[in-house]
Amino acid sequence: MQSVNLSTIGMYYVLDLAGNLARYSVMAGSFYFIFWYWKREIFQKRRTQQNFPKMESIFRELKWSLSTLFVFSAVGVSIFLLRDSGRSQIYEHVSEYGWPYFFLSIALLMVAHDTYFYWIHRLMHHPLLFFRIHRVHHLSTNPSPWAAYAFHPLEAVLEAAFLPTLILLFPVHVGAIIAFVIFDMAINVLGHLGYELYPSGSTRHRLVGLLNTPTHHNMHHQYFSSNFGLYFNVWDRICGTNHPKYHETFESVAKGQSEIETSRRKRPSLPDFGHSHRISRNCP
Ligand SMILES: [Zn+2]
Ligand SMILES: [Zn+2]
Repeated sequence: MQSVNLSTIGMYYVLDLAGNLARYSVMAGSFYFIFWYWKREIFQKRRTQQNFPKMESIFRELKWSLSTLFVFSAVGVSIFLLRDSGRSQIYEHVSEYGWPYFFLSIALLMVAHDTYFYWIHRLMHHPLLFFRIHRVHHLSTNPSPWAAYAFHPLEAVLEAAFLPTLILLFPVHVGAIIAFVIFDMAINVLGHLGYELYPSGSTRHRLVGLLNTPTHHNMHHQYFSSNFGLYFNVWDRICGTNHPKYHETFESVAKGQSEIETSRRKRPSLPDFGHSHRISRNCP
C-alpha cells in the first residue's frame, strides 16, 4: 500500500481541480458562446424561454459553479486515494475485463447515477432542504449553461459522493470514469442550455423519448415541482413527476413556436412543493 502524505493529496487536488475547471469552462463556455452569443439570432426560435436572464444571474451561476468545482475536487481526491490504497475496484488494463464490459460499465454508471440523482434531487425539494440548500440552484428560473454546477456546497458534496461510492461496488476502468464525467458534464450543460436541440416528436418517440431534453430541465427551473430526472425520462415517468405540459411545451419549442407559448406560460412566483397536491402520484 502506498503511504499517503499531504503533498500527494495536494497534487491530486490540483490535478482534479484543473481537470474539473477545464471540463466546466470548455463545455459551458463553448455552448454559451455558440448559442447565447455567436449564433444567437439563428437559434432564437429554439429558446425554451424567449427572454434572457440578467448578467447578474449569470455571474451568480458562475460564482456557485466555481465553488462547486472546489468541492468536487476535494471529494475527487478520495477517488485517487481509494485507488492507491487498493480499496477501490478501479482497474487499469481494458484486457482485464474486455471491451464489452468497458462499455457496459459506462452504461451502469449512467443508470446508477440517474437513479441516485433523481432521488437526491427529490429529497432536495423537501421544504426543509430546499430553502437551506437546493434554493441556490433554483435562483436561476431561466438558467444559462454556466448554471450546470451552481449548487450549495452541501449539495455539491452529495452530488460528488456518487463516484467514490460506485468505484467500491463494481470494477470501473479509468477511461470509463473519464468518459462518464465528460458525458455527465455535457448533459448538465445541455439541460441548462436554454435551447431545444431535439427534433419535434422526440419526446413521444419510443427510444429517443427515454432521454431527457433541454426543455425538460428548463421546465424544472421554471416550475420547480416536476421534471426531476437527469439523463433518462424513466423515474419521472415511474413516479408521475413529468410536468403535465412537458410534451406540449417541448413541441412548441422544437417547432419554433415558443415565442407565443412563453408569453402564455405562467411561472409560480414561489415554488410549489406539493402542499396543495402531492408532487409524485406514484412514489413517496
Ligand atoms: Zn430542483
Ligand atoms: Zn438545473
